[in-house]
Amino acid sequence: MFTSKRYDFLIVGAGLTGAVLAERLASQLGRRVLIIDRRAHIAGNAHDRLDDFGVMIHQYGPHLFHTNSSDVWAYLSAFTAWHPYEHRVLAEIDGQCVPVPFNISCLHSLFPKAQATRLESLLVRRYGMERKVPILKLRDDAREAQDLSKEDREDLRWLADFIYDKVFHGYTTKQWGLTPEELGPSITGRVPIHVSQDDRYFQDTYQALPQNGYTALVRSLLQHENIDLETSASFVDAESTVSFDHLIYTGPIDEYFDYSHGELPYRSLRFDFEHITEPFYQQATQVNFPNTHDYTRITEFKHATGQQSDGTTIAREYPQAHVRGENEPYYPIPLDTSRRLYDKYAQEVGKAGRHVTFAGRLADYKYYNMDQAVGRALAVFRKQFAA
Ligand SMILES: Cc1cc2nc3c(=O)[nH]c(=O)nc-3n(C[C@H](O)[C@H](O)[C@H](O)COP(=O)(O)OP(=O)(O)OC[C@H]3O[C@@H](n4cnc5c(N)ncnc54)[C@H](O)[C@@H]3O)c2cc1C
Repeated sequence: MFTSKRYDFLIVGAGLTGAVLAERLASQLGRRVLIIDRRAHIAGNAHDRLDDFGVMIHQYGPHLFHTNSSDVWAYLSAFTAWHPYEHRVLAEIDGQCVPVPFNISCLHSLFPKAQATRLESLLVRRYGMERKVPILKLRDDAREAQDLSKEDREDLRWLADFIYDKVFHGYTTKQWGLTPEELGPSITGRVPIHVSQDDRYFQDTYQALPQNGYTALVRSLLQHENIDLETSASFVDAESTVSFDHLIYTGPIDEYFDYSHGELPYRSLRFDFEHITEPFYQQATQVNFPNTHDYTRITEFKHATGQQSDGTTIAREYPQAHVRGENEPYYPIPLDTSRRLYDKYAQEVGKAGRHVTFAGRLADYKYYNMDQAVGRALAVFRKQFAA
């Protein structure tokens, strides 16, 4: 499978992290790079493809690109044109679809006019427009703020409890298999109410999808004469047969160290795709179901990609426990115990030697948005290889 060529770099993982590093090393430093992935495709979890009905789908869940980094945006723009897209998410609450994060228009959709107007006026007075206020803050104010009337405190408490119970509790419990209480206030306290009429999910400066998809973007990153690519090729095979000077490893850090401290816990997902012979299925790319069904959300890709097609494809997303070898590790579990276990592996990194670099969501055991993964890869390149 592998050629007998000698490489400066072996990069394990052809996701965004590996692809950006490969591109930089090849184009900026003229290094010879072999990049491998054990999956049969490139682009890692951002992989997209046409399904059997010709509809563009995201195989590992909806991927919406958004960033405030002009550097990351400019860098990627050299490899793709963009399809402008601003993500909007609806949640089904008490039989009605309302925007999330919970915002001012939700008050008016869900509550009687007088109550909605009173709550809106209280939020604007207290926090100002265009602010995201964590519901923990609403609760603290309801308990402690001396400058609020008794009615205002009761309203804040009631609203925080409503959002927590109807929007957050059920979704979080399904998503993590843990109750918000088990996850702790560092997660639960961050759920915001958006004091705004802006119903976009992200407020970042740049929001778009690569015009021809993420797989095409990664293919374009890897289109350099100094880069060789092997898919369906795992690190254990390459390590013993390929000759290279430096290893960049974007796979799971616990796997690299033979699980010597135990397995890092992840949450996994199952996606059930369904093709429907109607132009559209739902009102938005994403509809969340916090309190009904076993799935957390339904994604309809056409809304995001802008593709014109007679039919449409949706994915229902079922969170599940991660079992190594049986399903994919998606989200690091946000518990102190996981972080402490990761720290043990992080201490081993030095022992792997100066010729090994770890980067990416699996190697850093960290949830990165795509722009953060790209930003991290660019930073690693600058600090470690270009300096
Ligand atoms: C459900 C879901 C939805 C998401 N939605 C968004 C979103 O809307 N917007 C956003 O910005 N981000 C989103 N993300 C995050 C995004 O997927 C990551 O930022 C991105 O995938 C990180 O790229 P990476 O290269 O670090 O990791 P990955 O994409 O995981 O790539 C790592 C690659 O390494 C390969 N590999 C691992 N071990 C080995 C080995 N031993 N040998 C060979 N190959 C190996 C894997 O097969 C994989 O292809 C989402 C993530 C998930 C899980």
